[in-house]
Amino acid sequence: MRIDIMTLFPDLVETVLSESIIGRARAAGTLDIRTYNIRDYSDDRRHRVDDTPYGGGMGMLMAAPPIYNCFEAVRADGGPDEYHVVYMSPRGRVLTQQVAKELSQKERLIVLCGHYEGVDQRIIDEIVDEEISIGDFVLTGGEIPACILADAVGRLVPGVLSDAECFEKESFEDGLLEYPQYTRPAVFHGMEVPEVLLSGHHANIDAWRHEKSVEITRKNRPDLAEKLPPETEKPKKKRKRKTPADGEGNI
Ligand code: SAM
Repeated sequence: MRIDIMTLFPDLVETVLSESIIGRARAAGTLDIRTYNIRDYSDDRRHRVDDTPYGGGMGMLMAAPPIYNCFEAVRADGGPDEYHVVYMSPRGRVLTQQVAKELSQKERLIVLCGHYEGVDQRIIDEIVDEEISIGDFVLTGGEIPACILADAVGRLVPGVLSDAECFEKESFEDGLLEYPQYTRPAVFHGMEVPEVLLSGHHANIDAWRHEKSVEITRKNRPDLAEKLPPETEKPKKKRKRKTPADGEGNI
């Protein structure tokens, strides 16, 4: 998959996306992520890219011409002919795992990072297919959101993670958050790993994990829990009923 990122701060984006799993996928050629400095495409003598907003108001806006020139250069830089242009913006569709999956099906994403007070509306109208937000808060620029998007989408591209199960059993799959996980040592600061995980009984382990996923989702994200179909609440395998002294009902 190809992801082109148009930004005023390519070094910031490169630093984040050159490390770890995404960095390795780039080195292996599984992900082709390129950054473009919008400032390089300014026709202004001093490479200015921003100006004051018409109608007054606080701050500066990124002007349309350098962004458009940069976009033209991106399109001329090889890669698939089909592309989807995203503007990172707090007023966009909120990025979820479902949105990441949808975007990972695209052959090519072209991502525009705003800065200052944002960008001239006309560039959005002309080149952008959709605005994507990483949440209901405002950051200083679109670079961190673009890295989040590239990471969330990139790791879903076949071959980036070693095992598809890594994301098939993760939070948000089936509308549930992930169950607690443990690794060695078996005892840490007096806390033991739940016995069922040491039992080797896979059906019981699956049932315990499902139960914990439901419990954590209910506690941390009641909004997600509300959307769960009734059968999700039931454990996948019936296990021994606990006594009332355990303080729990039918599990
Ligand atoms: N004036 C804009 C508004 O009120 O919607 C905020 C501009 S913000 C200070 C500068 C840039 O940061 C935006 O153009 C956008 O690219 C990026 N940005 C800030 N918050 C974001 C978010 N939650 N999701 C995605 N991008 C964001």
